[in-house]
Amino acid sequence: MSTFTVKAFGAEAADSDLKQLAIVRRTVTSNDVEIDILFCGVCHSDLHTARNEWHGSIYPVVPGHEIVGRIIQVGDNVDRFKVGDIVGVGCMVDSCRECESCRDGLEQYCEKGNIQTYNGQDVHLNKQTFGGYSERIVVDESFVLRIPENLDLAAAAPLLCAGITTYSPLKHWNVGPGKRVGIVGIGGLGHMGVKLAKAMGAHVVVITTSASKVEDARRLGADEIILSTDEIQMQANANSLHFILDCVSAAHDINSYLSLLKRDGSLTLVGAPEHPLPVAAFSLIPSRKTLAGSMIGGIKETQEMLDFCGEHNITSDVELISMEEINDAYERLLKGDIKYRFVIDMASLKN
Ligand code: NAP
Ligand code: ZN
Ligand code: ZN
Repeated sequence: MSTFTVKAFGAEAADSDLKQLAIVRRTVTSNDVEIDILFCGVCHSDLHTARNEWHGSIYPVVPGHEIVGRIIQVGDNVDRFKVGDIVGVGCMVDSCRECESCRDGLEQYCEKGNIQTYNGQDVHLNKQTFGGYSERIVVDESFVLRIPENLDLAAAAPLLCAGITTYSPLKHWNVGPGKRVGIVGIGGLGHMGVKLAKAMGAHVVVITTSASKVEDARRLGADEIILSTDEIQMQANANSLHFILDCVSAAHDINSYLSLLKRDGSLTLVGAPEHPLPVAAFSLIPSRKTLAGSMIGGIKETQEMLDFCGEHNITSDVELISMEEINDAYERLLKGDIKYRFVIDMASLKN
């Protein structure tokens, strides 16, 4: 298969910093588009994968699945896009397209496993896929999204993962008017969860460990804020929420958050900490509570989320960085020292 080489940034081992690398992309085939990457968001999953915290990382790891760019080439059969279009690519670049989940538009739950944008199995080149910390990417048009014209492109990039990962469970669990919804962990995902739940009409309760986010949460759209390190505030809010979206990236006591749910309430995990979270049976049994999980969203729903954000003028609060600043950004992410998403200006890699 014909290929070309682009500059990228990646990790060669779990304990090494990210640095500049050369990677190979396939030349566009008939259904592909080639995208010149303009911006790429920095998801905590990038860090988990670069450092092999979920195990199974294949090195080198080139992370990045919040990609916004401009199409510079299209294959012969491409009919949805043309050169010059501004588009996005999220966490998946393909799936089997035949199983029940794929037919239902839930490619993220593909029964054969979706093909992740990075650290997935590239069926064209028979090696691992490489993500958006790179100059260009080649993707089948079926996995490419349109970015609404009114949105700032850098601030729209995080919608491709943080946006859809919070939108999908909020919709699935019918968040809207009359529902009291808790968002735990106000990082990249959590701050999008607050904005989206508010736009859906819910009463939004931010649950944070960071005193510095208490004031800011109202600006994001919170109606109430609970500082989870304050036992008195936690007890005062017991049995008060219909639904909780848990966006926490590290070890935390899930039982204390389950206590905030009303009878028949659900807590859905989107945060994916490295180690298992102990759950007491009696955190669930007495009030018939549900503990669930949710992964990103399908392509159709991702476009629906982008259009919803276009209509409601919703984007991420971002801090723009250069590619060279990525290792510092990872350290700051671990300290929660970011309001609320780093986005890489990919021009910095191309110079
Ligand atoms: P992030 O920006 O680092 O945010 C994580 C937030 O978790 C922090 O801002 C902090 O919020 C809270 N937190 C951190 N350590 C904590 C602790 N020890 N106890 C309680 N809260 C703590 O990360 P992100 O990019 O939003 O990603 C969040 C998680 O979701 C990651 O594990 C990521 O891999 C996962 N993820 C899952 C999916 C999916 O499809 N399910 C998709 C994308 C990402 P406060 O300061 O407010 O407490
Ligand atoms: Zn992500
Ligand atoms: Zn499938």
